[in-house]
Amino acid sequence: MLPDIKSLTREELEAQFKTWQEPAFRVAQLLDWLYARRVTTWDAMSNLPKTLRAKLGETYSLHIHELARKQGSPDTTQKFLWKLADGAFIESVLIPANPALYGEASDRHTLCISTQVGCAYGCRFCASGLDGWKRNLGIHEIVEQVLAVERVWEGQMREARSAILDKTVESNIAAAPASSDRVVNNIVVMGMGEPLANYDNLIAALKTLNAPWGGGIGARRITISTSGLVPQIRKLAVEPMQFRLAISLHGATDEVRNRIMPVNKKYPLHELTGACEDYQKVKGRMITLEYILIAGINDALDQTRPLAMLAKKLNAKVNLIPYNKVESLPWVRPAEEVCERFLAALEKLDVTATLRREKGGDIDAACGQLRLKTERELAVSP
Ligand code: SAH
Ligand code: SF4
Repeated sequence: MLPDIKSLTREELEAQFKTWQEPAFRVAQLLDWLYARRVTTWDAMSNLPKTLRAKLGETYSLHIHELARKQGSPDTTQKFLWKLADGAFIESVLIPANPALYGEASDRHTLCISTQVGCAYGCRFCASGLDGWKRNLGIHEIVEQVLAVERVWEGQMREARSAILDKTVESNIAAAPASSDRVVNNIVVMGMGEPLANYDNLIAALKTLNAPWGGGIGARRITISTSGLVPQIRKLAVEPMQFRLAISLHGATDEVRNRIMPVNKKYPLHELTGACEDYQKVKGRMITLEYILIAGINDALDQTRPLAMLAKKLNAKVNLIPYNKVESLPWVRPAEEVCERFLAALEKLDVTATLRREKGGDIDAACGQLRLKTERELAVSP
C-alpha cells in the first residue's frame, strides 16, 4: 500500500520534491490543491506538469472518504457516515457554532471528528465501544474528514444557489473553482474512538489541520476529548501546540465512575486530577469537564458537591450533556427539570457550567450511533 499524500508534512513533501529535482513552488501548488481546493484526483491539479502528477500517483495514494449516509440539513446538526478504503465506517458531525460551549467566538461551524474505528475503552453508555476496537485511523483519514465534509457542504451550497438562479448562471457556478474558505473552523475530537489512544496519528493530523499550509485552523479552536488516559494527558501537556482539553468525567467519585467507565479502574480520579492539574499548570489553559447526565446514575443532587470541588481544584468549567439514548442500551436521559436543577445547584456552588439543550438526539447525534445502526443493518441484509 502506498502512503497517503495527506499523511505527509510540508517538510516531508519538500524533501521528496528535492530528490525529484522539482522546484519548491510546486509543493505550495500541491498543498493548495489538497487543502484549499480539496480536489479528489491528481488530474484535477491542472497547474502541475503531467509528469509530476504521474510521479505523485505512482508514489502516493489519494484516498477520499466515500459518503455512505448523511442525516440532518445545512441549518442544523449534520451527521456524516464515511466508508473508508477498507470498508470500515466512521462518523463526523457538523454542528452550527455554539459560542458558549468551548469558548469560541461566534464562528461558523464545529466539526466533531473520529480517531479510531470502534473503541477499546467500553464505557457502558457509549455506542462507539459496543463492538470493540477495530483499528486506529491513519493521519490522512483524520485530516480527510474535514475536507470531505467541506466538499459535501460546497455541493449543498451550490444546489441551494442554483435553486434560486436561472440555468445559465447555474452552469457558471458549477464551473467555478472551489472556494478556499474553511467551512469548518472549530474542531472537537469527540467522535468515535479514544483520541489519546491513537496519539501519534492524532497529533500529526492536528498539526496538518492547524498548519497555514494545511487546514489553517487555530490550535485554540481544536479541542481534544479523552476518557482519562493519564500518561497521554501528561504527554500532551508538553506538546508545543495549545490545543484545548476536555475530560469525559461523567462521575465525580470513583464509585460512580467505576460503574460506567472501566478506564477509571486503571486511572482512578486522584491520578486523573493530578495529570489535569499539571496540564493546567503547564498550559495555563482552562480544562473542560464533560458530564453526561444519565437518569439514576449520576444525576442526583448529591453529586454536585464533589463535582464542584473537582471543577474548582482544576479551575475547569463543566459542560452538562443530557444523555442521548443508544438503541440496545438501558440508559436514559433525565427529565429536563432534573437537568436544569443539576445545573442550578452547580452554579450555586460557584461553578461555571453550561447545559447542552440541543436536539441532536433525533438524528443519532451521540458518537458511534450511526455507524452501529448501519453495520447492524448491513449484517441483517448484506
Ligand atoms: N473517547 C473520547 C472522545 C470520544 S467520545 C472520550 O470519551 O472523551 C465523546 C464524548 O461523547 C464523550 O464525552 C462521551 O462520553 C460522550 N458520549 C458517548 N456516548 C454518549 C451518549 N450516548 N450521549 C451523550 N454523550 C455521549
Ligand atoms: Fe470510547 Fe469515549 Fe465511547 Fe468511552 S466514551 S467508549 S472512551 S469513545
